[in-house]
Amino acid sequence: MSLQNPVFIPGPTNMPEALRRACDLPTIDHRSSVFPELLNAARQGVQTVLSSTVAEVFIFPSTGTGGWETAIANTLSPGDKVLAARNGMFSHKWIDMCQRFGLDVQVIGVEWGEGLPVATFEEVLREDVDHQIKAVLATHNETATGVRSDIAGVRTALDASGHPALLFVDGVSSIGSMPFEFDAWGVDVAVTGSQKGFMLPAGLGIAAFSAKALAAVETASLPRTFFDVRDMAKGYEAGGYPYTPSVGLLNGLNEACKMLLDEGMDNVFARHTRIAEGVRAAIGAWGMSLCARRPELYSDTVSAICTPEGFDAGRIVSHAENAYGVSFGAGLGDVAGKVFRIGHLGSLTDVMALSGIATAEMAMVDLGLDVQLGSGVAAAQSVYRQSAAPLAMAAE
Ligand SMILES: *Cc1c(COP(=O)(O)O)cnc(C)c1O
Repeated sequence: MSLQNPVFIPGPTNMPEALRRACDLPTIDHRSSVFPELLNAARQGVQTVLSSTVAEVFIFPSTGTGGWETAIANTLSPGDKVLAARNGMFSHKWIDMCQRFGLDVQVIGVEWGEGLPVATFEEVLREDVDHQIKAVLATHNETATGVRSDIAGVRTALDASGHPALLFVDGVSSIGSMPFEFDAWGVDVAVTGSQKGFMLPAGLGIAAFSAKALAAVETASLPRTFFDVRDMAKGYEAGGYPYTPSVGLLNGLNEACKMLLDEGMDNVFARHTRIAEGVRAAIGAWGMSLCARRPELYSDTVSAICTPEGFDAGRIVSHAENAYGVSFGAGLGDVAGKVFRIGHLGSLTDVMALSGIATAEMAMVDLGLDVQLGSGVAAAQSVYRQSAAPLAMAAE
């Protein structure tokens, strides 16, 4: 790949210069009085981005996967039952983690390309009259298939069935890019990382807890040490960490939140929608379809594009990298070789998106696919011309 080209993978995302600089600090003593200011600002920023006034935000030197573990290990006990749907590689991996923790996972199999089965969740929850299910796992945006699910609907299913299970939401590829309503959706643990919507290098695992999730911490008995939120909470009270924090990344996170909030979350979401619509228009012009089955499932952060039967979609990804120095996402798991993915989240403009569309087009034509050079670009151009972006990220 070329370091001058933007990446079109669904994380890590392109980094604004201002955030790269924010991560680049001299050594700061994390026991000094400077550190708590920086930490508190970052925690407050994340809470605001989550659209919450109550979430208790924990930030680990880790990644999104560590956020999954934080949710599980702090609130559940061995053998506890959890409900989850498998509709892509990321929901699959979270389920796998639960099983490795000795949890009893009721897995609802869902076709990849579909969203979370809210109606089935409600049936299962209604049937669980003695409340054996302790948590429902919900992947908000399945990054492998480009499917956004209805988290408000999962909350309604829990409420309608009068079920007290905790609601865990993987927002790794949605938070900071698509609307996420921690308080309004009654989320109990929200998980994310630093390298997607927050436009930073990988290295932070973020888990936000509700009061109900914090209460569950007191009775949960799964083993936990590194990710124990009780130790972390004690550290925060004393203005620090139970171990050595990633100070530069925390400063970056603080600046990333400021950058998002300065742009305005509604503008950030609108920008992602507009860019995604351009990408989707291009896909239509190529005569291809999305892995996501219906418009209400379309993700505004990543598009998984089905290639013609018998063609290995991975060739587009490797050829684009080798010939043009541009990275796209490969298909994962059940859709490996069947889809390639265009990541369109984080620090991205219409113009950057056009370059990715143009490159994908060149790669497909080179490989002999029946795609017209310029067709996708033209389709995206008309979307972007009709809804010209305010230059909200001009600071970069
Ligand atoms: C990227 C991603 C993860 C994994 O996060 P890491 O930071 O790579 O550990 C989990 N869930 C979703 C939906 C993701 O997109």
